Amino acid sequence: MSAYNYAKRSSTFSTTIQLSKNRASHRGGSMNAKVLVLNQSYEPISICSVKKAFLLVFLTKAEVIASKNDRTLRTVSVQYSCPSIIRLSNYVRVTFRRVELSRKNILRRDSGRCQYCGKTNPPLTIDHIIPKSRGGEDTWENLITACMKCNNRKGNRTPEEASMPLMSTPKKPSHVTFLKQIVGRVEDSWRPYLFMD
Ligand SMILES: [Zn+2]
Repeated sequence: MSAYNYAKRSSTFSTTIQLSKNRASHRGGSMNAKVLVLNQSYEPISICSVKKAFLLVFLTKAEVIASKNDRTLRTVSVQYSCPSIIRLSNYVRVTFRRVELSRKNILRRDSGRCQYCGKTNPPLTIDHIIPKSRGGEDTWENLITACMKCNNRKGNRTPEEASMPLMSTPKKPSHVTFLKQIVGRVEDSWRPYLFMD
C-alpha cells in the first residue's frame, strides 16, 4: 500500500491532536485546512487535510516542507507547527488521467471567465480563436470561453482583426491546473511548486 493510501485509510483513526491559532482556542474545522502534497520528486500530486498530513508525518511517511506560521498542532506534551506543504518519503507512482477536451473542461480551465472581457455572466459559449470556417481546429490552444456578447461581436474574425486581445494564452490543462482550482486561493509557499513564479 502506498504511503498516501495508507494515510487515507488511517485518517479514520481518532486523534487527540488539538489545533490552535495564535494560542487562542480554535475550532476543530481547521484540521481540514488544505495541505499541498508533493511526491518524493517534489511534483505536486494532491491536496489533503492538515489531519491527514500530520498523520503522514507522524508515521514518517512524509516530511514537512513548509508550515503555516500562524498555526500549531498541540498534543498533551508537544507543540508542532501546522504543515502547509509535505513531501512523501517514498516515490508514489501516480498516473493522472488525460484531461479530456470538452466544453466543460474548457470552461473549467478558463474558470468560467470570458477570455475577451473577463466577465463570468452566462450564457457562456466556446469560441474558436481562429474561426472554424477559416481552418481553426478543435484544440486546447484554439478554443476558449467567451460570453455571448463577445462571441457575437468577434464573429468570423481573428482576435487581431476584431481588436479583441485575449486575457491569457490558452494551454492544455494539467492536473496542476485543476489542483489550483480545487483550493481556490493558493498559499504563497505553494507557488514555486505549482510553477506559478
Ligand atoms: Zn465577453
